[in-house]
Amino acid sequence: MTQIICIANQKGGVGKTTTAINLAAALALSAKTTLLVDCDPQANATTGIGLDKSGLKKTLYHGLIGEAEAVDLIATCDIEGLHILPSRVELIGFEVEMMGAADREKLLRRLLEPLRGRYDYILLDCPPSLSLLTLNAFTAADTVLIPLQSEFYALEGLGQLLQTVKRVKKSLNTELRIAGILLTMFDGRTNLSTQVAEDAEQYFRDLIFKTRIPRNVRLGEAPSFGQSIFTYAPASKGAQSYMELAEEMMGLSP
Ligand code: ATP
Ligand code: MG
Repeated sequence: MTQIICIANQKGGVGKTTTAINLAAALALSAKTTLLVDCDPQANATTGIGLDKSGLKKTLYHGLIGEAEAVDLIATCDIEGLHILPSRVELIGFEVEMMGAADREKLLRRLLEPLRGRYDYILLDCPPSLSLLTLNAFTAADTVLIPLQSEFYALEGLGQLLQTVKRVKKSLNTELRIAGILLTMFDGRTNLSTQVAEDAEQYFRDLIFKTRIPRNVRLGEAPSFGQSIFTYAPASKGAQSYMELAEEMMGLSP
């Protein structure tokens, strides 16, 4: 059965895209067929996995406005078993154009419906906002994975995020659950990282993933080469930690 995981946090730069790319790659390398859907007009996941945006005829935008089927948008990459549904800057128009449309929060769910059953995992990389795109991702997903940067103010805004998930669960998607909160850019040598981890574990207990993603230079470099960490630096701490996360994930949903 397909599990659709939405990777969201309205805070910018907390490691959503890094997690989307590398968790997707780790799952594919673990023989789980995986689709990475780029739901962000910044299209960082699309370029980060090595797709040339200028060469694309249509993107997620066209799927959402009904001008393309999901299967016609899917591209492959250098990892077997990993497919991408790419995004591009035109996705910015979606919010404004669909503002008055009926069922505007359900368009991604509808687009992905025919793909349910075709993949083991579908990962949705969200933009840094609680906008219509993120609401679409919450509505389409089974679970939400929340990356939390191990920094001061990390917990700020988390209440609003969890509140939004709750609201969506009440009205648009009653099955929605929190997959977990993932500590990213963790640096065990700093008191701050340790403090954030302790606070998060105290507040959210079982919701925190056992795996922590360390701050790792290689993870920061890989996207500029259009590669996941597993091709760019397979022996790095970053690669190890995302493989560990995939294993934890697969343990939760065998
Ligand atoms: P946005 O909100 O803009 O979509 P994001 O939440 O998707 O951002 P990323 O793009 O994944 O965040 O990460 C922000 C920056 O931090 C990027 O330059 C990325 O390469 C870097 N980065 C992410 N995770 C790590 C890490 N564990 N170690 C080092 N650098 C990291
Ligand atoms: Mg991003």
